[in-house]
Amino acid sequence: MTQVPIHIIGAGLAGSEAAYFLAEHGYSVSLHEMRPARMTPAHKTALCAELVCSNSLKSKNPISAPGMLKAELRHLGSLILTTADEASVDAGEALAVDRHLFAESISAKIATHARITLVHNEVQKPFDGITLIATGPLTSDTLTHWLQEQTKRGLYFYDAIAPIVDTSSIDMNFAFIANRYDKGSDAAYINCPLSQDEYYAFIDALLQAEQVPLHAFEEAKYFSGCQPIEAIAAAGRESLRFGPMKPVGLVDPSGKKPYAVLQLRSENRSATAYNMVGFQTRLTYGEQKRIFRLIPALHHVEFIRLGSIHRNTYICAPDLLHPDLSLRKSPCVYFAGQLTGVEGYLESAATGLMAACFIMQRAKGVRHFAPPANTALGALLRHTTGETHNYVPANMTFSLFEPLFFSDLHGDREKVRSSMAAQAIENCKIWWSQYNKECEC
Ligand SMILES: Cc1cc2nc3c(=O)[nH]c(=O)nc-3n(C[C@H](O)[C@H](O)[C@H](O)COP(=O)(O)OP(=O)(O)OC[C@H]3O[C@@H](n4cnc5c(N)ncnc54)[C@H](O)[C@@H]3O)c2cc1C
Repeated sequence: MTQVPIHIIGAGLAGSEAAYFLAEHGYSVSLHEMRPARMTPAHKTALCAELVCSNSLKSKNPISAPGMLKAELRHLGSLILTTADEASVDAGEALAVDRHLFAESISAKIATHARITLVHNEVQKPFDGITLIATGPLTSDTLTHWLQEQTKRGLYFYDAIAPIVDTSSIDMNFAFIANRYDKGSDAAYINCPLSQDEYYAFIDALLQAEQVPLHAFEEAKYFSGCQPIEAIAAAGRESLRFGPMKPVGLVDPSGKKPYAVLQLRSENRSATAYNMVGFQTRLTYGEQKRIFRLIPALHHVEFIRLGSIHRNTYICAPDLLHPDLSLRKSPCVYFAGQLTGVEGYLESAATGLMAACFIMQRAKGVRHFAPPANTALGALLRHTTGETHNYVPANMTFSLFEPLFFSDLHGDREKVRSSMAAQAIENCKIWWSQYNKECEC
C-alpha cells in the first residue's frame, strides 16, 4: 500500500495537510494542483496553501472554538498550524501569518518531501485507487461536472449565510416563542416583533447600509429562495414584510399586533445558538451588527456568525459521505476541505487531516475510529457527516458542540467554555493515542 500512490487533488489548505500527513506516515502521495496553468478566480500564485483573502487563522484564545481546534491540530502535528506558528505576525489575540512566508514554507515542505510528487495539472475526475478530492470552493469546471453527475442535487454553488446569534444574548422581554399558525407540536421559533416605526427605521438603515463589493467572478444573480435581505428591501419598503419578516400567523402573547417579525430558528439541539431565518445578506460585518441590533430583541445580541453570500462549491456531505469522509457511492473517493461544507482555513485543514487519518486506517485495515464528538475535531466531523437538515457550511464555533457530550458544565459562560476546552483537548489526546496504537499494530 505504501508503494501505490494515494492521489490528492488540490494543494490548498486541506490537500497540503493531508498529503504531508500521509507522506510523513510512509505513504507515497501524488498531489495534483492545477495552478499555475489554470488559475482559480481568487488565487494569485502557484504556491500550495495560498490564503486567498484574510491572513488570519482566527483566535488563539484557548477557550474560543477556533482556539480549541488549534490546540487539537497542534497536538496532531498539523502541517498548516505548525507552519502558521512559524510564519506568524503580531495580531493580538488572532493567529495571523505573513501569507507569502506561510505559503512558500508549506510549498517547500511539500516539494522537498521524498514521498510527495507534486504534479501541476487539472484533474477532471478521480483516479483509480484511493483519491482525496480537496479542490475547495472554486473547484474547476471539469471536475465540478463530474461532481454534478455523482451528487445529482447535492452540489451547491453559492453560500447564502444568515447570521447566527448567541441565545443567551437575545432579550426575551422583546421576543416570544411560537410557531407560525401554532403548527408543530413544540414551539420552535423565537419571534422578534417590530412596530411600524421600528420596522421603517430598520428598513431605512438597511437601504443605506454599506455592502461587500462583488468579486469579478461573482455575478449578482441569486436563487429566488436566497435573495439577500437588502435586495428584497430594495424592491419596496414593505417587501420584507411579505417575505422573511412576515407577521402573519404569529400571535404576540403581550397582545400587541406586530407590524413585522424576524424569526429565529434553533441551530442546534441544545438551542445555544439561533439562526436569523431568511436573513442572508451581503452587508459588511460592521453594518450587520449595527443594523440588526436595531431590532428590539437584538439590541445587545452577540453574533456567533455573520451573514454572507459568496461563491462556494460544496457538497451536501451528510447525504453523500460515510462518517470517514468517503463517498458512499464510490468509497475509494474521499473528500476534504471547504468542498465538504466547512468554512475557513483551519476548518479545511482539519478535515484534510481527518481524511488522511481515515485513509491511513483503511490502508492499514484497521477499524474506522473518529475523534469523539466532545472534541473540536469531532464536532466538525459531526457537522459534515451528521444531520442533513438545512445543510449549510459552518465555521468552527461553539454552536457545533453538543454540551450534552461534556460533563459537569456549570457556572457562567466563561467557566462552561473553559471546562469544555479542557475536556476537549484531553479527549483528543486519548483518541490520538488510541489511533496511533491501533495503526501501529
Ligand atoms: C474569495 C474567497 C475569499 C475567502 N476568504 C476567506 C478568509 O478570509 N478566511 C477564511 O478562513 N476562508 C476564506 N475563504 C474560504 C477559503 O477558500 C477556505 O477557507 C480554504 O482556502 C479552503 O481550503 P481548501 O483546501 O478546501 O480549498 P483551497 O485552499 O481553495 O484549495 C483548493 C485547491 O484545489 C485546486 N483545484 C481546484 N480544482 C482543481 C482541479 N480540477 N484539479 C487540480 N487542482 C484543482 C485549486 O487551485 C486550489 O489550490 C475564502 C474563499 C473565497 C473563494
